[in-house]
Parts: sequence; structure tokens; C-alpha cells
Amino acid sequence: MENFEVIVIGAGHAGTEAGLACARMGLKTLMLTLDIGSVGRMSCNPAIGGIGKGQLVKELDALGGAMGRAADACAIQFRVLNSSRGAAVQSSRAQIDMRRYNRHMCRLVKHQKNLRLKEAEAKELLVRDGRVTGVVTDKGRFGAGCVVICPGTFLDGLIHIGLKHFSGGRINERASIGLADSLKGLGFRILRFKTGTCPRLDKNTILYRDLIRQGGDKFPRPFSFSTKNPKLRQVFCHITYTNKKTHQAILDNLDRSPLYSGKIHATGVRYCPSIEDKIVKFSDKDRHQVFLEPEGLGVKDVYPNGLSTSLPEDVQLKILHSIPGLDKAEVLRFGYGIEHVVVEPTQLYPTLETKLVRNLYFAGQINGTTGYEEAAAQGLVAGINAALRLQNRDPFILDRSSSYIGVLIDDLVTKGTLEPYRMFTSRVEYRLIIREDNADLRLAQKGFELGLLSRKDYLKAEKKRKEMKEGLLFLKKTKVNPCRAVNIKLERLSSSPLNRAISLEDLLRRPQVNILNISAIHKLKSGISKGAWEQVETEVKYEGFIRRQSRDVERFKNLERIRIPEGFDYGRLSGISMEIREKLSRFKPLNLGQATRISGVTPAAISLLMIYLKNSDASSRRKVNPVFLSGRKSVNK
Ligand SMILES: Cc1cc2nc3c(=O)[nH]c(=O)nc-3n(C[C@H](O)[C@H](O)[C@H](O)COP(=O)(O)OP(=O)(O)OC[C@H]3O[C@@H](n4cnc5c(N)ncnc54)[C@H](O)[C@@H]3O)c2cc1C
Repeated sequence: MENFEVIVIGAGHAGTEAGLACARMGLKTLMLTLDIGSVGRMSCNPAIGGIGKGQLVKELDALGGAMGRAADACAIQFRVLNSSRGAAVQSSRAQIDMRRYNRHMCRLVKHQKNLRLKEAEAKELLVRDGRVTGVVTDKGRFGAGCVVICPGTFLDGLIHIGLKHFSGGRINERASIGLADSLKGLGFRILRFKTGTCPRLDKNTILYRDLIRQGGDKFPRPFSFSTKNPKLRQVFCHITYTNKKTHQAILDNLDRSPLYSGKIHATGVRYCPSIEDKIVKFSDKDRHQVFLEPEGLGVKDVYPNGLSTSLPEDVQLKILHSIPGLDKAEVLRFGYGIEHVVVEPTQLYPTLETKLVRNLYFAGQINGTTGYEEAAAQGLVAGINAALRLQNRDPFILDRSSSYIGVLIDDLVTKGTLEPYRMFTSRVEYRLIIREDNADLRLAQKGFELGLLSRKDYLKAEKKRKEMKEGLLFLKKTKVNPCRAVNIKLERLSSSPLNRAISLEDLLRRPQVNILNISAIHKLKSGISKGAWEQVETEVKYEGFIRRQSRDVERFKNLERIRIPEGFDYGRLSGISMEIREKLSRFKPLNLGQATRISGVTPAAISLLMIYLKNSDASSRRKVNPVFLSGRKSVNK
């Protein structure tokens, strides 16, 4: 049996990040996939980022993950969503040449030192004394110190097109059956979720002439802090709409929908519903937007975003042909729905290690999420923690005040999810502090310390921090005097004229004035990058809110710092109901903060727990929960 330090099952968005992280951290890693050509394949929409997701990609990049750079290298249109709103809710999105992305990721994985990619199906996990020791595949057995499982939609996948259904992990790819059974056999609680995708159209059969054209941003903002400009030619998308005829075609055929005829029992994505779902649930709407997105340069496949469906093929054609611009559209591949197994994520620690089997980690769609970015973020965290475990180093846990990644993982492992989970800015309490534009300032140091981010990139982030400080000081110290030239400029901005000298910082605080306007009024200090000035602007404009949120973060951290020792006996807590004690014993929260977020745990129970912990040995509370400190050492105990 060949031995590896880490085995990663899956080479999708979670698997690639996990495998690359382990290998880059120096561990001998094996990555298994059902199809060697599918590394980083985009199953559904040809886009990366979007509301709440762009932040995840930027954070991945700041930590040294792969997705941001790969997206930049393959992007054919960049847009910042919510650009007219505040910095806290702005998110980057890019249209991606998905075949190029797939090839890019394949190359990255194949050329990564310490990483071996193998086409083999993981059938069973080998577990001894509660710890994973390897994987049985259809091509032999492999030993491992840690295993990271990232099988996406493949676990017991069942594809639906109308009333037909067949086993599959994605269209034309087989499902993973043995692994799902192995997980069930080990005692993991599982659920079934459902997702779906749109038909793909031949661009040469679309009549673009009357459709609305949508271009990207004039000044594209790449995902990676190390990318300067887009590498590929940038393209347009087009917008069209459904209409009454479309809706009628759907309503007439609902009995042939696997969803509405009762064939699919699994829970679907609320925020990304199928077109049949939209027509039924929003029956008052007389049209729905459809974005026609090219799947790449030089390919004819177009993705009609908004038309996800699992209706039969003849109905899909009726729907398409009722829509302006698509009257003659030819279908290259029909849309479909897929049901698959997920594992209840509350069975995981925030490191994404399972509570049931040591050294076993889950990441991606298996944890109930939907989306490439959510998967990649988890893959990186699981991969890092698997590597740290084997290196006997402290775990890597991002809390809710540090990052979107922290919120995503905390939501999953603490609250769980009964429907496919996707990231949104609204899930993030401290979103004024954790923004897309400052992901490098928040996380680059961690990425560097982990050995994932290069020194050059880390120093770049530190330089930006220094420049920001200088920029802020400059604005504070520099006064502008009232004079005719300045007041004319202010009047043009509909901002009141000056009648006394004020600092540039105070001037920037005015809602009508931005940093560009300031530079037209007074020469800005040289040697400060555009990115740093943008940060300065945000910090000045939101100063009051940021200060308030920083105080909230401090309060939040005070609870997170109160550790709960491993194996803590909740039975000792008198005055708390049996139900809450059982819940806490099952969830095994790492600290008091996490305990407060478990549904059903009351403030009274938390107060009692806090008193108990405060009265017990203070030193044991300050220590990291030993479950995370013991790598190989604990195995030998
Ligand atoms: C039909 C469909 C529609 C979707 N719609 C959307 C959408 O609208 N919006 C959205 O954000 N996301 C959507 N997604 C989800 C998105 O594709 C996933 O969230 C994302 O790809 C999950 O990444 P992952 O790394 O967890 O798994 P995947 O990217 O699915 O990768 C899984 C990997 O595991 C491998 N694998 C599986 N089992 C085994 C095994 N036993 N042994 C070895 N290798 C194995 C596979 O070969 C593959 O490499 C959709 C997915 C599908 C299939």
C-alpha cells in the first residue's frame, strides 16, 4: 500500500484548493478524481464571484489560494456589483472562459511539487481507533495521515430531466456511490439537496440584434491583489426577458416537472431557483431577466443565466423559443436537476475536521453549500488544517470578525443548514470592517505565515498598509483654505463652499466629495498607490460606523477567547435544561462565543456556562482546545 501524508478526494473547486495548499505546505499529497480532465471544472455558470462571493475569492487570494489568480487569467468580463452602493456591499464578479479555467487548474495541479493527481474512485475510508488511515479505491488502497473529502454533487447523485432520472454526478459523469455508503456506515448524518442548471445554446442561432448589450467595467478590477490587468479579450453579455408565453408553457407542463410531480424530494437552492420555481413562487411577475453569457472565447456555447430547469426537453425548447432573441435558438445541451447527498455540517469543527473521525476533513458541496467560491474557501481551510495537523502546528480558524470565510464556516458548523447554503453580504455582521478591498490587509500575513503566500505578495500588502497610514496622516494634517477656486469646485459638486480652513480629511467626509475630487482641490501626497487611497477614502467616510463595529468586534472576541476544554462535561452544569446540555455535548463548541450561536442555547445557559468556566482553571481556558493541538503525538498516546 502506497502511503501519502494527505489524500484529497475530489479535484473540483474545494479539492484543488485543499490539494494545492497541502502540497505547498510541504506534504506529500494524493488528489483523486473520477475524471482526470475535469480538474476545476465549472459545473454550472461560467462566472466567478458575485454578491458575497467576490469577497470569498479575494480572501482566498490573500491567503495564497488559487481561485483568484486563475479567474483573472481566464476572465472575459469583469464587473463590480453594487458599485453605486457602499464599499461594504460591493462584490466583484467575472465572466470566465470555463474551458481555459479547467485547463489552467489542470496545469497548476499537475505541475505542483508534492502533489500527485490520480484518476481513481474512492470507495471506502479506512478508519482505525477513530482515526482515518487511508482510502480504498477502484485502483488500490492508499494510506494517509489525513483525508480531505470534496466530492461535490457526486455523492449518490441522481440526475433529473423531466420525469426521466438516472445516476450521475454531473451530466456525462458517473456518481460516487461507495463513498456515500462508507460515510453512512461510519455514522455520519446525511441529507439530500438538489440543484440545477440551464440548457446551453448555440451562439450562432441567437438573434442578438434586439437584445440589450451589457459590457464589463471600464476599469476592470481583478480578483487577485497581484494581477494588474485582464489577460484575455473582454466581451459583452446580452439581456433578454421571459414573457407570458414562456410562463404559460411552464404552467402547462408542471406535471412533467420532477420538482412539482413529487419525483424530487430533496431541498433546492432558494436563492438560485429554477425557472419553474420562479414562475410558481412569483406568479405576480410578468417577466424574468435572462442573461446570455458566453462560456468562453472562440466557443459557441452560451449560458442563459436565469433559465435553470429540469423540465423535459420538449418543454425546454418551448420555453426558449418563446423568448425574444431565442426564437430560433438551438440547444447544445439540455438543462437538468441533480439530487445528491450532503453531510450535516454541524458534525464538523471549525477546522472542518469531523467530530466523529479524527484527521478526516470535509469541504465544499458535501457540507451543504452551493457555489464554486464557497467550495474553494472551505477546501483551502480544510487543506491548511490537515497540513497543520500533520505538522503538529496550531489549527487555522478564521472567526466571524476576520473574514467572509470565517462567517461561512461558522454558519455551517454552528448553525448547520437545511437548504443549499450560499454566501451573502447580509450574513456578515461586521461587513464594514471585512470588505473586499481590504482582504489583503486582513489576511496576507496569515497566508505568509502558513507558507502559502509569497514574501513578495505579503510585503506588497504591508506596503499598502504603510501607505494608508501616511495617506490618512496627510489628509488629517493638510488644511485647505477658503478661496474662490476651491469654492467653485465644491459648488460644482453640490457641496457647500468653505468659509474657514478645514482639513482635507473633513472635506473628504462630505458625502458629495470623493478622493478624486480631493486630488483636484489639493495635490495629494506622492508615493501612495491608488489602492491605498481608496482604502483611505473608505476609512474616512465610514469612520464612525467602523469605530462602532470595532467595539462590537471587541465584545465578540471576548466571548470567543473563553475556550471550552475538550471533553467538557456539560452534565455537571446544574440549572440548565437536559435538552440544552445534550445539544452542547453534541455540538462540542470550542469556545463560549460559538456556544452562544447554537440554536436553542439560551442566554441564561450561556451565563451559567460562563460562570462555570471562569471559576474553573483559568490556564486551561486560555489554552487552545487540545483536540487541535495533538497531531501525530496524540495518536501515539
Ligand atoms: C447541475 C449543477 C448545477 C449547479 N448550479 C449551481 C448554481 O446555480 N450556482 C452555484 O453557485 N453553484 C451551482 N452548482 C454547484 C457548483 O458546481 C458546486 O457548488 C461546486 O462545483 C462544488 O465544488 P466541489 O469542489 O465541492 O465539488 P465539484 O466541483 O463538484 O467537484 C467534485 C470532484 O470530486 C470528484 N469525486 C467525486 N466523488 C469521487 C470519488 N468517490 N472518488 C474520487 N473523486 C471523486 C469529482 O470527480 C470532482 O473532481 C451546480 C452544480 C451542478 C452539478
